[in-house]
Amino acid sequence: MLINPQFPKLPESYLFSNIAAKVSAFKQSHPKANVISLGIGDVTRPLTPTVIEALHRAVDEMASAKTFRGYGPEQGYDFLRETIIEHDFLPRGVKLFPDEVFISDGAKSDLGNIGDILSKDNRVAVTDPVYPVYIDTNVMGCRAGDLTPDGHWSNLIYIACRAENGFVPELPQERPDVIYLCYPNNPIGTVLSKEELQKWVDYAVHNRVLILFDAAYEAYIQDKDIPHSIYEMEGAKKVAIEFRSFSKTAGFTGVRCGYTVVPRALKGYTIRNEKISMNHLWNRRQSTKFNGTAYIIQRAAEAVFTPQGQKEIKENIAYYMNNAAIIRAGLVEAGFEVYGGTNAPYIWLKTPKNMSSWAFFDKLLRECRVVGTPGVGFGPSGEGYFRLTAFGKKENAIEAIERIRQSKIRV
Ligand code: PLP
Repeated sequence: MLINPQFPKLPESYLFSNIAAKVSAFKQSHPKANVISLGIGDVTRPLTPTVIEALHRAVDEMASAKTFRGYGPEQGYDFLRETIIEHDFLPRGVKLFPDEVFISDGAKSDLGNIGDILSKDNRVAVTDPVYPVYIDTNVMGCRAGDLTPDGHWSNLIYIACRAENGFVPELPQERPDVIYLCYPNNPIGTVLSKEELQKWVDYAVHNRVLILFDAAYEAYIQDKDIPHSIYEMEGAKKVAIEFRSFSKTAGFTGVRCGYTVVPRALKGYTIRNEKISMNHLWNRRQSTKFNGTAYIIQRAAEAVFTPQGQKEIKENIAYYMNNAAIIRAGLVEAGFEVYGGTNAPYIWLKTPKNMSSWAFFDKLLRECRVVGTPGVGFGPSGEGYFRLTAFGKKENAIEAIERIRQSKIRV
């Protein structure tokens, strides 16, 4: 038996284990230290009462022969597909058919699995720094080439997003076949305006490029002019697949539900230039390898869209965004160069005095007892930057910022 030769090429994911090891060593030598983590990318507030009630109701349905459900449709129940279209898309002027929306157990699986319907010969572009799943799944799918000593994969096209270009990705010099865009962005916390996103859609239309648009954080957008869906852009249905998640929107990180939109108008090409429906391919892939998201979870997701459900999730999002505002304002006052945090739960800061991301990590832990994530862990262009998240408790955000402001670490 031979293994997939791509797997040994993947470096172990040292980022979060390195962080955990450093924090644990620090706690051992400073047993009384109260270490605050602003590094977590997971929600901390519980599921809301409306979601919990829907879950209980659905569980009770499963207990009676009359209302019990076995296998559901692999693509998801119509009640959820229709509710999503009515609430997430129609109000933004986007019309979709229920068969264009595929319910899943979260965005991560779909972002990884989408490679099943794409040729190994596609050139793939990513923005850098980047959510690591896009890269690692392309390594597994034979599209990344080899890891070079400077931390790049030889076949991937990297689009650097740094302060010098305002963190706005520039169209690549070399034409990719597939490009991943994530907005609001993890890790940088930035967004794209309508004009900027339209530029990418136009480029994709003219160059036959597929855009994989990750909108896992769209619920955090505060500015009313920022697009929530790529389909708000003219022509996008012909070139883009959009990934959405209930994880950060409604606290479903441990419950697992997301969805992927594959428009009927989106076509891929065979080597002989025949047009093929991507919706058809994804449907074929899902009905073969996926047996549907649990009924009770889909009922819970449906409840998110009720008026009370919306009110409750908006309160939680406001809570996290208030943390983001506290962190952002405190850092700005302390003289840091800060990005993100106004339309996303992530704050991206430039390390002072050109310190490396890891040197800043160590200093922040030692001097302030605060943990964050070194930017270089998200790709070579993240060196010299640092990510903080707003998903913790408000008291901790206040305390962490106070420590930073009082410390020698301030700029
Ligand atoms: N996309 C981005 C950019 C993320 O940061 C995450 C989770 O952290 C996901 C997708 C995965 O979301 P899910 O929990 O739906 O798998």
